[in-house]
Amino acid sequence: MPTPQALPAPAASGLPVATVILKPKRARPFFGRHPWVLDAAVARVEGSPADGDVVDLATHDGKFIARGLWNSASRLRVRLYTFAAEVTLDDALWRARLESAVALRRSLGLDARDGAARLVNSEGDDLSGLIVDRYGDYLAVQVTALAMARRLDTLSATLMDLVAPRGILLRGADRGLAKLEGLQLPDRLLCGTAPEGPIFVREHGLTFGVDLTEGQKTGYYLDQRDNRQAAARYARGRRVLDMFCYSGGFAVACAVTGAARSVLAVDGSSRATALAKANAELNGAANVAVETADAFEKLDALRDGGERFGMVILDPPKFARSRATAEDALRAYHRINRVGVDLLDPGGILVTCSCSGSVSRDAFLEMLGGVAQRAGRPLQFLECRGAGPDHPVSASCLEGEYLKCVIARVA
Ligand code: SAH
Repeated sequence: MPTPQALPAPAASGLPVATVILKPKRARPFFGRHPWVLDAAVARVEGSPADGDVVDLATHDGKFIARGLWNSASRLRVRLYTFAAEVTLDDALWRARLESAVALRRSLGLDARDGAARLVNSEGDDLSGLIVDRYGDYLAVQVTALAMARRLDTLSATLMDLVAPRGILLRGADRGLAKLEGLQLPDRLLCGTAPEGPIFVREHGLTFGVDLTEGQKTGYYLDQRDNRQAAARYARGRRVLDMFCYSGGFAVACAVTGAARSVLAVDGSSRATALAKANAELNGAANVAVETADAFEKLDALRDGGERFGMVILDPPKFARSRATAEDALRAYHRINRVGVDLLDPGGILVTCSCSGSVSRDAFLEMLGGVAQRAGRPLQFLECRGAGPDHPVSASCLEGEYLKCVIARVA
């Protein structure tokens, strides 16, 4: 696998070096501005683009549709970045897109120096394949497209200029994705200096330590920021179970902001539970107990031991990697939610999440309907939430909508 660093830098002009011709009748999604051209839709390529080069997309009879970046190693052959023939994919365009992304977060009030927010959300910010998270004075970048990897120098220089962080770190892409794109990117420092230890960021008045070099994702689950706050509003006086707690975001919000009676936070990773413990202490939450255990076993053990809670939070990792595994994922969601409901007192609150993009919101809600039926206890949906507004979703690429967070009351 070539490292993107070994590839020549893309031509600065941003002009196409080749034209990708679609098969007949395959152009419709792109007239709808969908940004992903799969290999199966491509009839032929006129020219010989290198991976990451600028190409035009044309109908089978040669009419311009869009302009994007080529990757022969990916099933996602072309990622589209403009549908206007006069727009070139040069540094000025990337800069304008980054400026627009930064301006959105500023307008959302998510630009406090000691705060954290997603600055760039891939297709949601018209920058397919690029994710940038800001944690205080540092940025963590993830690239999921080879074409973005080839442009990392200019992208990080622009980010330095626009946001002036102390350092920008590259976090290696998800291993599965990396394989799909033919990308091999070890973690490294792109600009400035790396933090010496954890970074401390503020979220809705609480403080969380984030490990930028070792943590999951880019170090923290920013997408759940507002959901942690929403859950906390129901926690008052309740005994709370935070299952799959990672660094304790929900647990701490419920204990401190929500004034829960007590919280039991559980995660399978001891690194995660160490972070959760530290974050509970940092926020003076003495009533948070943290335990390292497998969620499936722990849920069964709590139920069999006759334990009851006033609130159960379930925020598991992605159960479905693709549509093919969505059914299996739904069975796993059913299983944990069924036990979650069994653990709740009458009138208890279930906060249940799914970050599997291939499990639709409707399918997730129907699964919960099945749980209510099997448990013989009506479930009332109080809030059906998603990721926060710093995770925008493009109306032309609904694949970007992945997070479900349902708050429900159990009879
Ligand atoms: N709620 C967290 C994010 C949870 S991410 C927050 O707000 O920050 C999902 C978590 O599930 C990860 O921390 C992972 O370590 C944990 N996990 C994955 N499989 C698990 C299992 N079988 N048992 C317990 N925890 C598990």
